[in-house]
Amino acid sequence: MPTSTITSPDYDVALVGAGPAGTACALALRGSGLRVALLDKSTFPRDKVCGDAIPGHALKALAQLDPAYVAALWRTEPLDAVRRSRLVAPGGGSFYLHWKLPTFNSPRLAFDAALLALVRQHTATAVLEGATLKHVEITAAGVHLHLADGQAIRAGLVVGCDGANSVVGRRLLPEPRLARAHHSAGVRAYFENVAGAESGTTEFFFSRSHLAGYLWLFPVGAGRYNVGLGMLSELVSQHKIDLKKLLLEQLATHPGLASRFREARQLGPIQGFGLPMGGGRQRPASGMRFMLCGDAASLIDPLQGHGIDLAIRSGILAAGQVRACFERQDFSADFMRGYDEQLRQQLGPQLAHSYRLQRLLGTRPWLMNLGTRLARLPGLRGWAQRLVG
Ligand SMILES: Cc1cc2nc3c(=O)[nH]c(=O)nc-3n(C[C@H](O)[C@H](O)[C@H](O)COP(=O)(O)OP(=O)(O)OC[C@H]3O[C@@H](n4cnc5c(N)ncnc54)[C@H](O)[C@@H]3O)c2cc1C
Repeated sequence: MPTSTITSPDYDVALVGAGPAGTACALALRGSGLRVALLDKSTFPRDKVCGDAIPGHALKALAQLDPAYVAALWRTEPLDAVRRSRLVAPGGGSFYLHWKLPTFNSPRLAFDAALLALVRQHTATAVLEGATLKHVEITAAGVHLHLADGQAIRAGLVVGCDGANSVVGRRLLPEPRLARAHHSAGVRAYFENVAGAESGTTEFFFSRSHLAGYLWLFPVGAGRYNVGLGMLSELVSQHKIDLKKLLLEQLATHPGLASRFREARQLGPIQGFGLPMGGGRQRPASGMRFMLCGDAASLIDPLQGHGIDLAIRSGILAAGQVRACFERQDFSADFMRGYDEQLRQQLGPQLAHSYRLQRLLGTRPWLMNLGTRLARLPGLRGWAQRLVG
């Protein structure tokens, strides 16, 4: 659509995607005086394929904005408060890690709706649901967002928080494709009536059949479990692995799981989604009048596969850059690079460490077995906890 025919109202900032990255950015822009639009193709509550484990650092970052946000999120239903993780090595040995930061698991259907409710309650953000971005155009004068229904929105800046298949990233990044080595695939389904599962404990199973990945069993409240499997995409395509089939096979045959799933009931289909991971050569996440956050900027932890915390933290960093841009009235690519620098400084070291560890452990099951034995020694438990973050 030619830009001269744009009729919809203008905003200073358009945040595309109302997942953890977009909602955190909107919350961090509270009180900025800027006209903010937050648009999402879905209407909430909406599902998102995920393990549903909310990392403690996600809550910590939100608490730094306002402790009331986190107090409200703890009232999400259902949820399961998490205190520890059980890691099971390929050889069957296991050990527990106890988490310092309090946190919980909660289905994304509920958690993301709770985040959006905070945006509605605490900010003047215009929330536009059912608004699918098709195309984005940037000129020296501004940003033009073209929606699937033919509408157009004009803004001064766009922040792409639109997830793993980001339209903003595909349209605006100079090198939009992520290398296979930095991409994982994951599948998950919900179950109930799983035997021997403990509330408060997330379980991770490593096996020779899904190296550089793991099978998870996470309680999500109301007697339900999020059960899934994730693996490097290069291995999936190299060995032509059907992840959905592998998940069911593992639940039926894995020595630590088969008896526990004998009476379990699967609730709904197994669903899959991609995980764009960080830790390699960080691609640019900004340019003139735009930034990318969360999965759109490939910020998933390559060792553990968590990305909600990194999405929230990058959304908050992007909000800082948005404020700086409007204060200085500078939307140039050069000035925007301040955001990339923040990502590099604040998130880069953790992602690089996780990437190195994933490459090391993912191909050497014996090292996982050895690590598990060592981590059971009282003096070395703290070391194991620091190693996996
Ligand atoms: C199988 C699997 C398991 C995972 N398990 C965990 C876990 O347990 N813990 C954890 O921390 N992380 C986990 N992750 C990663 C986590 O899901 C993501 O890192 C996180 O959701 C990123 O948040 P986001 O806001 O960047 O993107 P998203 O949560 O994907 O949100 C993007 C939003 O953008 C909207 N959108 C997309 N395209 C458009 C468009 N064209 N126009 C308008 N709106 C659009 C979508 O509807 C969506 O609401 C997992 C991922 C997978 C695939």
